[in-house]
Amino acid sequence: MDPTAGSRPRPAPATDVVHLGRPPAAPGVPVNPPVVLSSTFHQGGELIYGRDGNPTWSALEEVIGALEGGTAVVFASGLAAIAAVLESLPIPGRVVVPGDAYNGTRRFLADVAGRGRLRYRTVDVADTEAVLSACAEFCEAPGRPSGAAGEFGAGGVLWLESPTNPLLAIADLRRLTAGAHDLGLDVVVDNTFASPLLQQPLGLGADVVVHSATKLLAGHSDVIMGAAVTRRADILAHLTTRRSLHGGVAGPWEAWLALRGVRTLALRVERAGANAFTLAERLAAHPGVVSVRYPGRPDHPGHELAGRQMKGYGSMVSFEVAGGAEGADAFLARLELVTVGTSLGGVETLAERRGRWAGEQGLPPALVRLSVGIEDVEDIWQDLQQALPVTPPQ
Ligand SMILES: *Cc1c(COP(=O)(O)O)cnc(C)c1O
Repeated sequence: MDPTAGSRPRPAPATDVVHLGRPPAAPGVPVNPPVVLSSTFHQGGELIYGRDGNPTWSALEEVIGALEGGTAVVFASGLAAIAAVLESLPIPGRVVVPGDAYNGTRRFLADVAGRGRLRYRTVDVADTEAVLSACAEFCEAPGRPSGAAGEFGAGGVLWLESPTNPLLAIADLRRLTAGAHDLGLDVVVDNTFASPLLQQPLGLGADVVVHSATKLLAGHSDVIMGAAVTRRADILAHLTTRRSLHGGVAGPWEAWLALRGVRTLALRVERAGANAFTLAERLAAHPGVVSVRYPGRPDHPGHELAGRQMKGYGSMVSFEVAGGAEGADAFLARLELVTVGTSLGGVETLAERRGRWAGEQGLPPALVRLSVGIEDVEDIWQDLQQALPVTPPQ
């Protein structure tokens, strides 16, 4: 270690994404961590068996942990990370969750709730008072879970997303976290939409952060990966235990690909965010667009809050195309450059009509979710413009 290192300022996140998770510098040592394809390790060291740990996971965990300001545990998918957190709750768990939370999270909750292992209540996370009163009522009701006071989730869990998917509502993370803690709940934030470069929920008081690393972190639509991050030793123990015992672990090659993607995270987030800002403005001015939801626009109800708790407004834009579901489908069918598909956070711009999915019927039918990529913004706009209806159909 460099003895003067302590006196240097802590590197910025844009530097950490490039430099962390590498082997210690020494002559002849590779600059990149190896893909460690080994299920077993020589006896006597810390690493024992490949379901419990892998050096390529550790390299990725070092970067994600530093970005979020905690200790990261990587999983085979975002949903595996989410499942590990929710499976750590005492039974029956109590979860207050956004009504427009990620579809997979809601399906997971419905599945386990259907088998009596937890109960949940949905809320509008943009309404701070309503969320906190739901927490108070729901989690104080009789039939509290068996866990000892202070145990993770014993007083219930407030699950948060901000911005939400796909309505891009902004939750007041600091006030909600403080309020939930006062009521005895623990707080989990799914930070997939913002990325740790724009928002660090542990610093705002959250107990756990989860990520679909499939999206912005890995960033190239070529890998499925997830992560959970915490500062609490009890939660960390839960996460590593769940990962080992559930056994659906990430492959070392996938972890390496995700790490390779993370190297350019700062550049991608910056470029995609700038593109999104421009496109949101232009979409809002287009006669074929009924409404635009983007936290970077002053007409978004969470605009000021997003400005305070995020370092940018992100690369997701949702908008309603004129002509209802049919108008939106026709728009999507006319796209040539922009890919039509589900997912987000890749280098390529991706669009889909969310209301087509089962379980998303509550959404405006014409709502298109745009995950803005890093292409030249004029090319994206040219494609959107040629595909949009010129005048609203009657
Ligand atoms: C995609 C996504 C997930 C699930 O992640 P997978 O990697 O697909 O398992 C969770 N939360 C959000 C917000 C997502 O967009």
